[in-house]
Amino acid sequence: MTHYDVAVVGAGPAGMSAAIESARWGFSTVLFDEQAAPGGQIYRAVEHASPQMLGVLGDDYASGKSLVAEFRDSGAVYLPGATVWNIGSELQINFSRLGTSSEVSAGSLIVASGAVERPTPMPGWTLPGVVTAGACQILLKAHGLIDDNVIFIGSGPLLWLISSQMIVAGRKPTAIVETVPLARYGVALRKLSLDLTAIKYLRKGAAMMWAAKRAGVPIYRDAREIAIEGTGRAEAVSFHANGQYHRLEASLFALHQGVVPNQQITRLLQCEHEWNQHQRCFVPVLDSYGEESVSNVFVVGDGAGIGGAKVAALQGRRAAKRIAQRAGEEVGTELADLQTRLSREMTIRPFLETLYAPSAAVVAPADTTTVCRCEEMTAGQIRQAVDIGVPGPNQVKSLLRSGMGPCQGRMCGLAVAEIIAQRQGGSPCGADYYRIRPPLKPLPLSELASFNGASTDSSQVQGAPSHD
Ligand SMILES: Cc1cc2nc3c(=O)[nH]c(=O)nc-3n(C[C@H](O)[C@H](O)[C@H](O)COP(=O)(O)OP(=O)(O)OC[C@H]3O[C@@H](n4cnc5c(N)ncnc54)[C@H](O)[C@@H]3O)c2cc1C
Repeated sequence: MTHYDVAVVGAGPAGMSAAIESARWGFSTVLFDEQAAPGGQIYRAVEHASPQMLGVLGDDYASGKSLVAEFRDSGAVYLPGATVWNIGSELQINFSRLGTSSEVSAGSLIVASGAVERPTPMPGWTLPGVVTAGACQILLKAHGLIDDNVIFIGSGPLLWLISSQMIVAGRKPTAIVETVPLARYGVALRKLSLDLTAIKYLRKGAAMMWAAKRAGVPIYRDAREIAIEGTGRAEAVSFHANGQYHRLEASLFALHQGVVPNQQITRLLQCEHEWNQHQRCFVPVLDSYGEESVSNVFVVGDGAGIGGAKVAALQGRRAAKRIAQRAGEEVGTELADLQTRLSREMTIRPFLETLYAPSAAVVAPADTTTVCRCEEMTAGQIRQAVDIGVPGPNQVKSLLRSGMGPCQGRMCGLAVAEIIAQRQGGSPCGADYYRIRPPLKPLPLSELASFNGASTDSSQVQGAPSHD
């Protein structure tokens, strides 16, 4: 079986930076990513983006070009289109690529699998014509596609970023229905650090909001009692804002309530997790270098807790430097310098996490609202299960099948944990989540049948010189 000193999962800013740094220290390094090209979420398809597209998506996006180029030149083995579906306790990594599953092993693992958009259960969200704001951006980044009759519903920096990118592309959204309670702006401003870096982020956000206002996009603030309406497909959104009832029609409704760590790999590895009340999500418990309770496993980037692209890149480098330090390399002050830069980049978080906490309606959906889309389980059915004494998500799963569908609980895990905890009068704790088992993503049975562990198909991976 091919062995690498360092394996990285994810080619976003965190993973690419980790692989670049790891290869720089002479470690044999392999990086797996399920996408066809490097870039992750933020720098998706940046390598071949036209000057026009770079203009539409902005400087932050364009800055990904140099990172991708550095990664390509790093000497790390890069496996695009490779989905990691299992990781063994000895860090044997099973991945599927080009219809074949293979296995390699690694001395250290850097999990840089990023974030996912927070599921937003609400009435009508399962209707055709309802997508996430991130999906709109993926269509724009990867395919240059924009639906110009879309209403954005929810809250968070990404929602304003996508609408401002659409405006630059000459296609403004039909409306923005924001769910942030007006009073929360005051509370959040009190959490704003006057650090230069934080002010820079604040100015970027304000510019995006101003772009929507200047383009004449109707913006509804403090929206509540939101429901997507339609027969057979989404036709309109109804809600109350400023004491008034509104019903807006459109062809596409894009939901967004922020992003949360993608926990699939860290839960599979049974790493320790804790509930982060500020980000209202589960985060892995890490030491100050990003190492997990499972040794030689590092979690970096938004998968470690939401910090954004710059933080992701710094954390990626930090993990690889830490592995180098462990291997006896002289890293000098490089680690301390990184920690300083990281804390500076994080100064804006308290403000953002307060302002863009998910709306109460999404965290505690109405009884009739579907929470598990795969098995069509409603919030009410989960509450009833708790009322008859079902203690936690895994027992709810056994009883109701929620979390057993093709998404493996990605869409309902967080909501189910919150609904159960609330019904029990508390908030979720680290263990309150589905047990995640392989395969992490659906895999053809034939591929699983023809995969028997160590007999790796050498055409899948290149031989790897070891560090020593
Ligand atoms: C849809 C979406 C759009 C976003 N757009 C922006 C934006 O425009 N600007 C911005 O500042 N922030 C954006 N963000 C926030 C984004 O999370 C961060 O800015 C940044 O991309 C985080 O970097 P990362 O390296 O941690 O993870 P990511 O960039 O998310 O990269 C993680 C990579 O891991 C891959 N992966 C995950 N699991 C597996 C697996 N099992 N096997 C193989 N590969 C796997 C993913 O496909 C992805 O390519 C977006 C987030 C989302 C969810």
